[in-house]
Amino acid sequence: MMLFEEMSMGDYEQVIFCQDKESGLKAIIAIHDTTLGPALGGCRMWPYESEEAALRDVLRLSKGMTYKNAAAGLNIGGGKSVIIGNPKTDKSEALFRAMGRYVESLNGRYIIAEDVGTTEYDMNQMYLETDYVTGSTARAGSSGNPSAKTALGVYSAMKRTAKEVFGDSSLKGKTIAIQGVGNVAYDLCQLIRDDGGKLIVTDINQEAVQRVVNDFGAEAVGVNEIYRVAADIFSPCALGAIINDETIPQLRVKAICGSANNQLADIEIHSQRLKELGILYAPDFIVNSGGVINVADELSGYDEERAIVKVKAIYEQMGQVFEIAESENITTAAAANHLAEQRIAQMLKVRRTFLQTEKSAICRR
Ligand code: NAD
Repeated sequence: MMLFEEMSMGDYEQVIFCQDKESGLKAIIAIHDTTLGPALGGCRMWPYESEEAALRDVLRLSKGMTYKNAAAGLNIGGGKSVIIGNPKTDKSEALFRAMGRYVESLNGRYIIAEDVGTTEYDMNQMYLETDYVTGSTARAGSSGNPSAKTALGVYSAMKRTAKEVFGDSSLKGKTIAIQGVGNVAYDLCQLIRDDGGKLIVTDINQEAVQRVVNDFGAEAVGVNEIYRVAADIFSPCALGAIINDETIPQLRVKAICGSANNQLADIEIHSQRLKELGILYAPDFIVNSGGVINVADELSGYDEERAIVKVKAIYEQMGQVFEIAESENITTAAAANHLAEQRIAQMLKVRRTFLQTEKSAICRR
């Protein structure tokens, strides 16, 4: 990979390579954009097949965080980190403390949080070395595991999606098909059931399926069946790239709204195809922004009630996306990008004007 060319094409500010021989740490931190504030994004631990695969992932994910944070109305920028290693076998206190020291060395330009392969307990180890960590349990005023707030955000987005499609935000009598009933979707199932919705679920983990069947009366279907069940809304809460050439023709739903990241295999092609089919796609990075909204609240001293209000505001953000898509006749995916880009562009303009005023005032002195 031509790194500088890649960084320039994607407008990345900074990429930091971190290694520590003693602990075996090999990590990359990517800071995509700090226009709106310090970069905040999770730390993924994954046994990448190559260093290039890790680099590509952290670049893609950090840019995604810029869009997610901007569209969520947060005053933070986008960044992400990856640790190359197996989260089941390669974790140690030394490794996370070494990572924490790298985060500390950036003096707050990057704030770390948990992601796939890391937990709140790993954040606790990093907290021993840096204050620039969110989502731990060790720190007074920290918010812990974000899954419940992510679920609340998905539920708020789903209600706005239902309003757009069916004219009523209530999920009463609506059937929601959920792919993957792990941490986020378990709480989501409860919220939907309490709202009077009917659940059809699948998961590769039969225990997880049984739990929502027992607790919320969900109907279970096979892993490949979930795409073709007749439902009102399909909620992907497991994997990325599951909306693709193969699955779109099977769908018998009016809308898609779930927590999984990067649901569309090809953003342009598949969002356009869904639009043509009259299936309303609620853009994933708006739908699942409840987790980051919750951890970002720690930056002003965590207040759970305030965080919940902000997470529920995803309802209004989703409405804005639908309005932009409608008025400009573009896909909802393009509208969500538009919303984020507009906010960053406005802030750049304000900042430039402010700097110019400041400078001319200094020159006049
Ligand atoms: P999780 O690992 O707890 O749950 C995912 C579930 O999907 C698991 O039960 C797993 O068995 C199941 N699954 C995996 N492959 C499957 C397949 N092929 N078919 C059906 N089920 C399958 O993860 P989570 O924390 O609940 O997150 C769910 C999704 O939401 C992930 O894509 C994650 O990246 C995204 N997300 C989560 C958060 C959060 O706060 N946890 C925030 C933003 C986005």
